[in-house]
Amino acid sequence: MSQEREGEIFRDAIRRLDRAAEFAAIDGEALEKLRHPKAVLQVSIPVRMDDGSLRVFQGFRVRHDDTRGPTKGGIRFHPDVNLGEVQALAFWMACKCAVVGIPFGGGKGGVVVNPKELSRMELERLSRGFIEQIADFIGPETDVPAPDVYTNAMIMGWMMDEYSKIRRQRTPGVITGKPIPLGGSLGREDATGRGAYYCIKELERLNGWEPKEVRVAVQGFGNAGQHVSRLLHADGYRIVAISDSQGGVFREAGLDIPNAIALKTQRKSVADVYYTRSVCDCPVCGCVECHCDPQGTATGAVITNEQLLELDVDILIPAALENQITVENAHRVVAPTIVEVANGPTTSDADDILASNGTLVVPDILANAGGVTVSYFEWVQNRAGLSWSEDEVHERLEQIMSREFLAIHEMMTKRRIDMRTAAYAHALNRISQAIEAQGTSSYFSASRSSG
Ligand code: NAD
Repeated sequence: MSQEREGEIFRDAIRRLDRAAEFAAIDGEALEKLRHPKAVLQVSIPVRMDDGSLRVFQGFRVRHDDTRGPTKGGIRFHPDVNLGEVQALAFWMACKCAVVGIPFGGGKGGVVVNPKELSRMELERLSRGFIEQIADFIGPETDVPAPDVYTNAMIMGWMMDEYSKIRRQRTPGVITGKPIPLGGSLGREDATGRGAYYCIKELERLNGWEPKEVRVAVQGFGNAGQHVSRLLHADGYRIVAISDSQGGVFREAGLDIPNAIALKTQRKSVADVYYTRSVCDCPVCGCVECHCDPQGTATGAVITNEQLLELDVDILIPAALENQITVENAHRVVAPTIVEVANGPTTSDADDILASNGTLVVPDILANAGGVTVSYFEWVQNRAGLSWSEDEVHERLEQIMSREFLAIHEMMTKRRIDMRTAAYAHALNRISQAIEAQGTSSYFSASRSSG
């Protein structure tokens, strides 16, 4: 990808900021400060491979803004990682932490790698090597990483261990999303999906939805996508389509989500969830005469990710990667409600098309904020030496998600703006209060004239 295109995703993210500033009480200087990342680090990570050769991987860590607290944000392992993407993700994290009112700024990291091509030992050496390179940039009081796409609790455990070795003291508060025995929090694993689920429950109350009549399609059946599907399915929602990077499956009557999760975990692909091999061989619907056919004319079908986005469903949940709903396909997206579990799945120009179609978009900085909220709980427990029960974590998370969802929904209704603009304005109000408390030109000129 060219540097120009890489930078576009960050510029697109900043455009949202400018749009929302109109509706927020934010000083021009505070806004200008938010247009630029506070610090950017690019590192090379030499890794000894299993065959004895040396490979050098590129990695990034960005701290966007730390006015409200230490920067916070995940580390992504993906072949398409680039600086523009990491900058955009760090900016979104600053907004997200402000949306839910937790005392963190925004950061993000990434390594350009396809982790599926590495052995477990190579992956561990890469994870530890990345921490060695960024150790002076992170810390419990400065910048606190967490998992993101293709990183998980095991990797966070290695990273915390490496940082502790470098600092010569056990430092669980440097990273969140760790395994429970290493200081992880109960309830972190499903927090992102659960946060989105609490948003949907608020919509259900506001709109008087009957779950069994609500059809849902989920793009990306990884951590976040699986958990939101599981919770909705348990409440009676009809999850009619799911997908992963290989493609998707569709069944009008609804998929058996616990079974789909078990199969995805076992076989590593949703294509296996909906078997096309023979009649009566469908492990999802379990029906006696399931005519699974790829054309989709019978009870179910294998579909592409593009088709999934355009399905006639009540709720569309993009839970994979960014830039999935664009000017190219937005006019074909017919779902009246989109709940953005992924970061940045909709481009800013696609927003306009969705708005003109009357689509309600619960934006990423609200819908997927459950993950960082429970990360904050983990950081608090690590620093206080506490360990909360799962019920306590769920209760605290629900309180925050419902409170902030309703505040943003009310701003959207009162100001007649879309929910994304309302969420950014809500975040900007909180960030600008912190920046202004540090002093802006109006503060200094006032003190000059009075002094
Ligand atoms: P994950 O790695 O567990 O799952 C990602 C899933 O998306 C996988 O099933 C993968 O096969 C699928 N996928 C990849 N490319 C795809 C494509 N082109 N089309 C359809 N599916 C595709 O990652 P995750 O942690 O579930 O994260 C998913 C999204 O949610 C990301 O945008 C991430 O930034 C965001 N998010 C995650 C968390 C968290 O706590 N896990 C928190 C906030 C936001």
